[in-house]
Amino acid sequence: MSEKIRGVKGTRDVLPIDTYLKDKDPWVRVGHLQLIERTARELFPLYGYREARTPILERTDLFVRGIGQETDIVGKEMYTFDDKGESLTLRPENTASIVRAYLEHNVNQQEPETKWWYLAPMFRRERQQRGRYRQFTQIGVEALGNPGPRIDAEQIELLDRWLRKLGIAFEMHLNTLGDQNCRPNYREALQKYLRSRIDELCADCKKRVETNPIRVLDCKNPGCAEVAAQAPKMEQFLCDACRAHFAGVQETLQRLGVATVIDPRLVRGLDYYTRTAYEAIVPSGLGSQSTVAGGGRYDGLVKELGGPDVPGIGFAAGVERMALLLAQQGKEETVRPVVFFASLGPAEEARADRLAQQLRAAGIAAEVSFRKSNPGNLLKRADALGARFALVLGEQELQTGRAKLKELKTGAQHEVALDDLVRAVKELP
Ligand code: ATP
Ligand code: MG
Repeated sequence: MSEKIRGVKGTRDVLPIDTYLKDKDPWVRVGHLQLIERTARELFPLYGYREARTPILERTDLFVRGIGQETDIVGKEMYTFDDKGESLTLRPENTASIVRAYLEHNVNQQEPETKWWYLAPMFRRERQQRGRYRQFTQIGVEALGNPGPRIDAEQIELLDRWLRKLGIAFEMHLNTLGDQNCRPNYREALQKYLRSRIDELCADCKKRVETNPIRVLDCKNPGCAEVAAQAPKMEQFLCDACRAHFAGVQETLQRLGVATVIDPRLVRGLDYYTRTAYEAIVPSGLGSQSTVAGGGRYDGLVKELGGPDVPGIGFAAGVERMALLLAQQGKEETVRPVVFFASLGPAEEARADRLAQQLRAAGIAAEVSFRKSNPGNLLKRADALGARFALVLGEQELQTGRAKLKELKTGAQHEVALDDLVRAVKELP
């Protein structure tokens, strides 16, 4: 016998069966992902977002410029390979790809404002942990062409509504990062402060103080966190325009009834991220992978990628992390058969095939028994499938044209005419 081939480290199979537990956690199944996806599909268009699909493969340079050389993603996590002289990368996130497509198809010349959403697998070579994988899925939105602040709040409200609809308990953290006018002053003050406490920082942050001091603020190391807690805050350095923008976002959110937590440590490390930054953080259930979605304004990105001066704002949510939370709540989307046909002979099987076809055509889920067995075992099978009704078809039922729909939970029986089965099932309470 030849050896089994196993899946790649950091990737996962999501299966529909529910027979196994992993790490004492309920395992994520396809139905959890479907619930998250369907809710997004229904909700996002109500806010004007339309779905865009871009390729998994992009030129490496897109991410080097669109995410930044000094980030962990580009520095250590990308799956990059040489394709006969051209460097390609499996996308680690989608904002850069969306902006590339937007520019490549001159969308900015066709419409002043664009709202797109996506659902797509992402690839990052990270250390595998619960809620952290090498292939994972993001659902995200991007709004291009609107400088805000009302759209910022509208987008945060969308994320808020989506997570609430799914029953996820979270806090919406909010911050402002300033812009190219005021952030340099803040950066300088922060750098000065961090240099004065450099001995207390982790090795990575010691470097960040010189290359990208703002990123020290979101380091997860406890020593760095303590230093960050006492650091000067962006708030004190905001220019008038950024201050007004932030006030506008908060005012609109208040009007829309969205509660937020102002979080001065919430940052994005790159220069083209400006002003609004936000994250949905869950207080429990995900350990240290507690951020389910992160978003922010990127007014400098389109220009960085060779386009005109078009502002943008977007968020990306981690579908697997959300699914872990739904699995803990026992919530998922499943379609169970409404009717299970237990047929006792070949003529009955033939009738069941056609009746099941009629039910499905009417939008009612139905299953037929494919194995020969006795009525007791067939009813067990119906139960295992989670069917609502079992319909036993024997010689007598075929002759009289009448059968009993047995409600599996209660044992209640409803007599129905086989010729009129669709209507009968629809009329049952
Ligand atoms: P983290 O700080 O947890 O690494 P991040 O800042 O790298 O997150 P983003 O790039 O902002 O995350 O991505 C948005 C969301 O995508 C995250 O909030 C998270 O839910 C999800 N996500 C990011 N990386 C992973 C991963 N390796 N596995 C699963 N989900 C991920
Ligand atoms: Mg990360």
